[in-house]
Amino acid sequence: MSKNLVGNEFIFAALEQAKIAISRDEVPVGAVLVKNKKIIASNFNRNRSLSDPTAHAEILVIRESAKILGSHRLDGCDIYVTLEPCIMCAAAISLARIRRIYYSASDEKFGAVESGFFTKTSSCYHRPEIYSGFCEKDSALLLKNFFEKKR
Ligand SMILES: [Zn+2]
Repeated sequence: MSKNLVGNEFIFAALEQAKIAISRDEVPVGAVLVKNKKIIASNFNRNRSLSDPTAHAEILVIRESAKILGSHRLDGCDIYVTLEPCIMCAAAISLARIRRIYYSASDEKFGAVESGFFTKTSSCYHRPEIYSGFCEKDSALLLKNFFEKKR
């Protein structure tokens, strides 16, 4: 995993989505899906408003982008997300053939990337390139503040 400053504007866009999530009382995680340097879809966690345990930001942008691009494979697409993807989202990213993942904060508890989903799971056939650590403090702070208010 390495740091890469290219594409920071997209991680900022994902952070903007995470901020919208807060205003809707949703867990502040945002994602954008990018192809040819253009945002195809952007969204945030909507578990509560959609009453859907699978409505993570990544799943929502993958579904929307696949519909917009008219293909179940998102070849050449990159996903920017403010939190390390969970195992459900990591699997969806692999199935969608997404080219690169850029994420901000690590998720020690539920993150599937650093625990090796893409590298150690034999059933994972497509392994995207992974870049992490973009604006990680901003993202972690949004989450920390959100959960502190919940207590
Ligand atoms: Zn997820």
